[in-house]
Amino acid sequence: MTNQKLKLLKEKSIQRMIFFERTNDFLRKFFFPYKLYRYLNIENHYNVSFVFPTVLFVESTNSCNIKCIFCPRRKSRKKIGFMEFNLFKKIINECVNYDKLFELFLHKDGEPLLAPNLTKMIKYAKEKEISKKVAIATNGILLNEKKSLQILKSGLDELVISLDAVTPENFEKLKGVPASNFEIIEKNVKRFIELRNEQGLTGPMVKLKIIYMKETKKEINDFIKKWKPIADSVPVRAYITWAQSVKDRNINPVKVSKKIHPCLAPFNNLAINWDGEVSVCCVDWNKELIVGDTKKETIYNIWHGKKLKELRIRHLNGDLKGLQCKVCDFRMSLPRMNLLVRKKLMRKTLAI
Ligand code: SF4
Repeated sequence: MTNQKLKLLKEKSIQRMIFFERTNDFLRKFFFPYKLYRYLNIENHYNVSFVFPTVLFVESTNSCNIKCIFCPRRKSRKKIGFMEFNLFKKIINECVNYDKLFELFLHKDGEPLLAPNLTKMIKYAKEKEISKKVAIATNGILLNEKKSLQILKSGLDELVISLDAVTPENFEKLKGVPASNFEIIEKNVKRFIELRNEQGLTGPMVKLKIIYMKETKKEINDFIKKWKPIADSVPVRAYITWAQSVKDRNINPVKVSKKIHPCLAPFNNLAINWDGEVSVCCVDWNKELIVGDTKKETIYNIWHGKKLKELRIRHLNGDLKGLQCKVCDFRMSLPRMNLLVRKKLMRKTLAI
């Protein structure tokens, strides 16, 4: 079996575990296969990282062409902009000096296909071989034939398309743009896969994504049935409120745990905004958790800097008062089973 086939098989089994666990109360409470998978730490990007982050989000742009009702970005006070290619190069050039990242995402709060330098950025990151995976998540509206060919040429490893609906009516309701875009996206995705296959390419892996929430609950099975034969993977993602910044549309609202469990994000990843300022994680849509600026500092110095260290200590001590982390449902969704081991490792990062 080729590497690509193995990768696909693994991806599909993980998605299946997540789907069953997410949509089945019994599995969630008593069996939790996906939590077990993460507990066993089969993929060590859930590990704590000592020297340099293992996952990087680099925001190519925070501009967007749709208005999803479950996204807080329009409330943000941030300026809209596009990352300059020289800044991007500086970031990537620094990464060359460290172990390969597990994942490099070229999106954060915007639509990456709006960024004029996107394919140049993907190519550069791939040439420098700084990450095992380079990925983007897009709404797919701008994925026309010309853009598709550019992306295919760039060497991208993973393309996630957030379609989030089965019917044009629901799409319009959830995404805040005319239903006509629904057909455009469907056509774009199918053509993209066709072009990839015609060229005999094995990548990028194409994932068609839907969020599990009140408005999509009834459509989930149809979504999977429809896209399974076409896309490489059909992930069903959990709904998050972006630290209580949008209405909770969870089917079973997330129970806020009284115990504060440390979040893994400050111990293994960073999110660089388009202007170079560094957020602790991709949930930081409004720059509440800025820990540095890549225009003035190195990623290494930010990673080992005072601000991030203080935040890590607060997470480990369960002292999140006044921080968005306190109400963040992404933190709460991280695995807790191996907490003791992880806490020990997390404390070790503070000594470095
Ligand atoms: S708790 Fe949420 S906001 Fe805080 S670092 Fe973790 S993911 Fe980010």
